[in-house]
Amino acid sequence: MNASDFDPNDMNLNAKRVLVTGGAGFLGSHLCAALLEQGHEVLCVDNFFTGRRGNLRYLLNNPRFEVMRHDVTFPLYVEVDEIYNLACPASPFHYQHDPVQTTKTAVHGAINMLGLAKRLGARILQASTSEIYGDPQIHPQTEDYVGHVNPIGPRSCYDEGKRCAETLFFDYYRQHNLPIKVARIFNTYGPHMHPDDGRVVSNFIMQALNGDPITIYGDGSQTRSFCFVSDLIDGLIKLMESPDDVTGPINLGNPVELSIRELADSVIRLTGSKSELVQRPLPQDDPIQRQPDITRAREQLGWSPQVALEDGLKATIGYFQRTAVTAEKAAGQV
Ligand code: NAD
Ligand code: UDP
Repeated sequence: MNASDFDPNDMNLNAKRVLVTGGAGFLGSHLCAALLEQGHEVLCVDNFFTGRRGNLRYLLNNPRFEVMRHDVTFPLYVEVDEIYNLACPASPFHYQHDPVQTTKTAVHGAINMLGLAKRLGARILQASTSEIYGDPQIHPQTEDYVGHVNPIGPRSCYDEGKRCAETLFFDYYRQHNLPIKVARIFNTYGPHMHPDDGRVVSNFIMQALNGDPITIYGDGSQTRSFCFVSDLIDGLIKLMESPDDVTGPINLGNPVELSIRELADSVIRLTGSKSELVQRPLPQDDPIQRQPDITRAREQLGWSPQVALEDGLKATIGYFQRTAVTAEKAAGQV
């Protein structure tokens, strides 16, 4: 830029340097985009285990955006004002692939990012999860419910890793007075989900678009509550911007609950697919029901989801039609 090009009106005096770990993933890429949109400088740190550069393709030319390949289980020395800690595989298929690495990412990653935040005096937000509640015995789940989690099952690397991360966040808060924010994220879906990540929304849409059988695990009566990604990102940013005494944990999710069979019916209807439903065994420790109580988010953040499931599914189906299915066709695989 020439000195003559400098326009003081271009300066955003509220701009911050923001670190997003896991920034190349599904949620992280939308968060990076939203923060850039607000005028911040964004440093995306990712080891690309499940993240993809393609998720960032519209951001790479932005001079306020930087990508660093780094594994958060190793210390990181950068200078930032805020940290969103999202690095961790989130789909059961991916987090069970290398469970030891999943626990390390959740726990060592949290220790490293909290250490960084402590050195910098930076605000830090943890992407925690509804899996904190395990297979819940109260319904809907409120933040004071301590959960019903198997410590030695196939989902434990993720559930217990995330629970330990929450412990670390609150110990840094109490012991070091660190400004922390803990969001318990419920099932979220939307564009940039990995087509092969095995999560139910991506599985069902890909199966429906390819005319393959829709795989219902168990009898499909288990429930989930699905939040569209734009709503979730709005909630994360509102939480980060909330006053210091709002630490969380705070549930972020859409309280509209439905069974997995109802979700399959919606996907078939919206894609116009002729796919049949097939039953597969229910995975071990698969929670039977899940619905967030979002009273705390409504009261403390003024946040509630705005996107109806039908609209969110249409947007997600459109995304997979434009990207995943086209890519497979181009490769001659369908
Ligand atoms: P994702 O798998 O798309 O993104 C995770 C990102 O973290 C990926 O880009 C991956 O490459 C990166 N990563 C993994 N291990 C890493 C490591 N050791 N070092 C650096 N980067 C690493 O998943 P997502 O759905 O975007 O989830 C993001 C966060 O939100 C996760 O922490 C997850 O636990 C949490 N969360 C997501 C949901 C959901 O429904 N999407 C629900 C609850 C919680
Ligand atoms: N599920 C299913 N068919 C699939 C993938 C998932 O019936 O092809 C079910 C799964 O057993 C679970 C629900 O859908 O009950 C949500 O699964 P997902 O892996 O998306 O998320 P999580 O179990 O972590 O909530």
